[in-house]
Amino acid sequence: MRLFSLYLAEGRGWGLVFLSPDPIFDFTFLRTQGEVTCLEPLTPFLPVGIAGCLFHGILRQYRAADLSSAAPVPLEELRDLCLREAGRMDFPFWDWGEENRPAALEGPSPAVHPLPRRDELGEVASLLAGRLLSLREIARLAGYPGEGGTAALQRVLQVLCLRGAAALVPALYPLKGSLVRCQRCGWEGIPDTGFCRACRSEACCTCPECRLMGPLSLCEPLYTAVPQRSAERQALEKAGVWGRLQKLFGLGKRDGGREEAGGREVLCTPLFFGVAPWGKSNCRAEAAKGGAPSSAVRPRHPLRLEVRLTPPQEAAAEALRDFGARAAPGSTFLVWAACGAGKTEVSFPLLGDALSRGEEVLFATPRRDVVLEIAPRLTRVFGKKVIVPLYGGSGNLGREAPLIVATTHQALRFYRKFDLVILDEGDAFPYAGSRMLHFAVERARRPGGRLVLLTATPAPWMFGSGRKGSFAMIKIPARPHGFPLPEPRFLTVDPLQNTGGKKRLRREVLDLIASLLKLPGARLFIFVPSVALTGVVGEALRAAAGEPPLEGICPEAFQWSHAGDRRRDLKRERFMAGDFPVLVTTTIMERGVTVPRVHVVVLDAGEEMVFDTPTLVQIAGRCGRSPDYPTGEVWFVDSEISRAMEEARAQIRSFNEEARRKGYLRDDYGILLKELQAFPSGVKGSVKDVP
Ligand SMILES: [Zn+2]
Ligand SMILES: [Zn+2]
Repeated sequence: MRLFSLYLAEGRGWGLVFLSPDPIFDFTFLRTQGEVTCLEPLTPFLPVGIAGCLFHGILRQYRAADLSSAAPVPLEELRDLCLREAGRMDFPFWDWGEENRPAALEGPSPAVHPLPRRDELGEVASLLAGRLLSLREIARLAGYPGEGGTAALQRVLQVLCLRGAAALVPALYPLKGSLVRCQRCGWEGIPDTGFCRACRSEACCTCPECRLMGPLSLCEPLYTAVPQRSAERQALEKAGVWGRLQKLFGLGKRDGGREEAGGREVLCTPLFFGVAPWGKSNCRAEAAKGGAPSSAVRPRHPLRLEVRLTPPQEAAAEALRDFGARAAPGSTFLVWAACGAGKTEVSFPLLGDALSRGEEVLFATPRRDVVLEIAPRLTRVFGKKVIVPLYGGSGNLGREAPLIVATTHQALRFYRKFDLVILDEGDAFPYAGSRMLHFAVERARRPGGRLVLLTATPAPWMFGSGRKGSFAMIKIPARPHGFPLPEPRFLTVDPLQNTGGKKRLRREVLDLIASLLKLPGARLFIFVPSVALTGVVGEALRAAAGEPPLEGICPEAFQWSHAGDRRRDLKRERFMAGDFPVLVTTTIMERGVTVPRVHVVVLDAGEEMVFDTPTLVQIAGRCGRSPDYPTGEVWFVDSEISRAMEEARAQIRSFNEEARRKGYLRDDYGILLKELQAFPSGVKGSVKDVP
């Protein structure tokens, strides 16, 4: 059942082109729906990525035509079109000879399998509404175990597709030559090909990027159904199959109708010529009976929020509520917050508003720990029934609720479902998956759905658009404690030098480190651009320990670690607990760590491949987070000043200037900072009780 063949089914005055793993079953089903004279295969059995692509070629060709009045297209024309499309791909092909096509079907159908029951159809349709799931996932969630289960499930899905209630989405498909695109995560590239047991092809491949969510290969289909509100649903029922397909997937529209979703999507729903003899099938209505529409669950106390917002947060929260109430469909709002300024909770009032309007909302973040932290808070505010937390292994994928709090990976399993998507980037270093992140949140929202980006370090695509003015934007320039952000200072010297075949740290750097270590209770993060350098710099510091300027400091004061270090968690804990004062690390290691009384030195800060602007801003943002010690020193060390170093400093300065201008800083922060430096322990109490 893993390979698909394209076919043309014909009745009196109408035709239907689609693809199926079992054309005999399709023929059987179609004959129960109306008069079908024959079913002619157009291709051999192919991996669904290839079959789907050929089918899409046919869709493209005929989409512009007014198909409802068109006469069925000649069979040979369709077969030629398939061959031409196949020629554009660089995949070795099955023999296209006639003898390799499945047999044409005519007359009474063999009726090998029973048709799926209505309740089966309804259950699977409601599971698919707004989700994009693999066969394996649907089988697991809807309870179709084993080989036999999968086969039965494919018949259910095939009927849903033929009725226009669901769409088949090839997981991977060839774009051009050997370039392949993954429709789950948006990856494009040339994958490794190899023999696949499922499709028995030598040229099958899997997506290398979203493998974590279960591997997807060229021979696997995904399925989705577009969710509908009750009013829309009724309108769709009246529209019949053809109208429904047009409305749901934009088929047959002159402008393509699908550009919104990126235009590159290969989405397979049946292509009708003439007027289909059926059309009043009601499986969406059945689906609705299966479970109450999630939008009926409203939050109990939409506005009783536990958070108390600071004035800059309040301003952002108000701007967001206004955006939620008034912004044009499809628009985006960027909340750009200083590191540690508290951006997540400013979205809560907007969330409350959206839920009480009956909207469906996705709160997405790349970090699982943020999901685990936010979900209980939101549950306390909005009630248990309103929210479903989703992360790898949560087991909640099949649950319905108006508010989904999910990791970005999980967001890839949704499809045009949400009226509002909030992407909380997390106070983290740039994630390798930021392309995937962008893709996931864009696709999870309904056409016209709105997007809110919460970030401390906008990715270029967020930043550029915000500046151009196509996104509305607000900044949260100050931290809750009302002290300015520590501004980076530059030391222009090459930090390492070779002496006697050994790498040593320059005197200027050692002086800087020594002076920082003299600050009361100081902890020091030293960032380097590579794993190898953590050891080099760590050893160099140990070699310099005990002698001026590091007199009185023992070698064990200096530790180093990186992502691949097996003892890194232990070291991090000991560093946070104050067991040793200096940790040399790479950017990746330090993610999400808040250390009290910490100062930061970045060596080779001009290494722009590693230390880009967002990374430097995040690193600087480690300092001064705690109200106990709202300041710290940030040093960027390199022989030359890079553009990223300049930009990072400029961003931080502009936050401080805006905070000062808007009166978000404490009046007395200058005096308090001086006290803090002069009498570190005595001043602790007075700094802590921040209004
Ligand atoms: Zn993928
Ligand atoms: Zn395969």
